Amino acid sequence: MNSRTEQRIALISVHGDPAVEIGKEEAGGQNVYVRQVGEALAKLGWQVEMFTRKVSVEQQTIVQHSPNCRTIRLEAGAVEFVPRDNLFGYLPEFVDNFLKFQQENGFVYPLVHTNYWLSSWVGMQLKEIQGSQQVHTYHSLGAVKYNTIDTIPLIASTRLAVEKQVLETAKRIVATSPQEKEHMRSLVSTKGSIDIIPCGTDITQFGCIDRQAARALLGIDPEAKLVLYVGRFDPRKGIETLVRAVGESQFRGSEKLQLIIGGGSRPGHSDGMERDRIENIVAELGMNDFTTLPGRLSQEILPYYYAAADVCVVPSHYEPFGLVAIEAMASKTPVVASDVGGLQFTVVPEKTGLLAAPQDVAAFSCAIDRILANPQWRDELGQAARKRVETKFSWEGVASQLAQLYTKLLQEKPKDKNQESPEGIPREAILAS
Ligand code: UDP
Repeated sequence: MNSRTEQRIALISVHGDPAVEIGKEEAGGQNVYVRQVGEALAKLGWQVEMFTRKVSVEQQTIVQHSPNCRTIRLEAGAVEFVPRDNLFGYLPEFVDNFLKFQQENGFVYPLVHTNYWLSSWVGMQLKEIQGSQQVHTYHSLGAVKYNTIDTIPLIASTRLAVEKQVLETAKRIVATSPQEKEHMRSLVSTKGSIDIIPCGTDITQFGCIDRQAARALLGIDPEAKLVLYVGRFDPRKGIETLVRAVGESQFRGSEKLQLIIGGGSRPGHSDGMERDRIENIVAELGMNDFTTLPGRLSQEILPYYYAAADVCVVPSHYEPFGLVAIEAMASKTPVVASDVGGLQFTVVPEKTGLLAAPQDVAAFSCAIDRILANPQWRDELGQAARKRVETKFSWEGVASQLAQLYTKLLQEKPKDKNQESPEGIPREAILAS
C-alpha cells in the first residue's frame, strides 16, 4: 500500500487566501506559497485542504484546484476584508469553524502546516484540542519587521509572544532561508526545532520566453534599458528607494531608460495610499515620461515582464524570502536586491545579481547602472541566476522536502499527551472541548 495516498494535510493560512488573485492589497508571497505547495503536494499523492478566511459573500466557500487539492473558506467575524493586524480577535471563531468542518466531514487532521503568526495561533489551539502536530512557516517575523518600521501596531506585543510560543512548541518550524533561521535564533528564542526548506517557483512558467520576444509582445522598445519592480505596494517594499535610484541613473535622459513598477490595486484599496505616495515621488522627480505603473500583473503575463527586463529590483527594507527575486532569476533576469534576509540567500552578488544596503539610493543606483551598462555581463548573470533557481528553488523540490518532513513526523511515536495520535481521540471528546 502506498501510505502517501492515505495522507491528509491541512495548510492553514488565515489571512493569505491561496485562491485569490495575487499582487493586490495584502495578497502576495504567502498566498503563492500556500497554493503552490498545496498543488505540488497533491501531485505527490497527498490529500490537501487549504484553510483561509472568507472575506466576501461573493467568494465560493470551497474552490477545487485539482482532484486532491482545494481551498476551504471559513467564516471568522464579518464576511469582509479585515487588515491582518486586526484579525487576532476572530481566530477563536476560525478554530471553531475548522473543528466543525472536520466533524461534518468525519476526519481529524493529524498534521497542520500553519502560515504566518495568526495561523500559528490556530495551529497551537488544534494541537491543544486534538493533538494535531504542527509545522509552521512564519513568512515574516515581527521581531525583524518592527525594527524596520516607524509605527508599531497595537497588536505587536501579542504577535511577538505568539511567535515565541510557536517556535518553542511546534513540532517543526520551516525557515525559508538560513538568514531567517538565524533571526529566529537571535531575536525570538533558542528553543525549538527548525528545518530550512526554501520557497520555490515555477521553473517552466518563468523562463519560457526570451527578452526580445517578450518585448515585442508587450510593445516595449527592443533597445530600452528596462528596470522592473514587481510586488505589493507596501512601504516595507522600498519602492521609494528604487524610484529615487532610477532618478539618479546615468542613463537618465538617454530616452532609452524605462521603469515599470508592477503590482497594486486600483485606487480606493488598502494599498492605495502607498501607490499615491509613489506616484507623487515619480512626478516630483520629473520621471513620468519614462515610468509606468501598470497595476497588478497576472501570473500569466508576469513571465513576459520579467523576461523583457534588463534588471529586476527588489528594494525591500526586510524580506524573509522574496519570491519575486527567484521568479526574475528563473526568467534569466539579474536581480539587484537589498542586502537583507532571504535575498542574501537567493541572490549571489556578482554571480546572479547585486546586493545593496537597504534604503541606500546611491548604492542601488550604482548597482542598476552597472548592469544596464554591460549587456554581456547582464546575460551572464541571467544565465547563472536561472541555473541557481533550477537547482535550488523549484516547487517540486520544495514540496518533496516538505512531504519528507511530514512523513517523518507522522511516523514518529507520540511523546506526550499533546502529541498523541488524533485518531485515538473520539470525535465527541474533540467537540466537547
Ligand atoms: N505578484 C503578482 N502580481 C503582481 C505583484 C506580485 O502575481 O502584480 C506576485 C509575485 O509574482 C510573487 C508574489 O506576488 O509571487 C510576491 O511575493 P514576495 O515573496 O516577493 O513578496 P510578499 O508579497 O510575500 O511580501
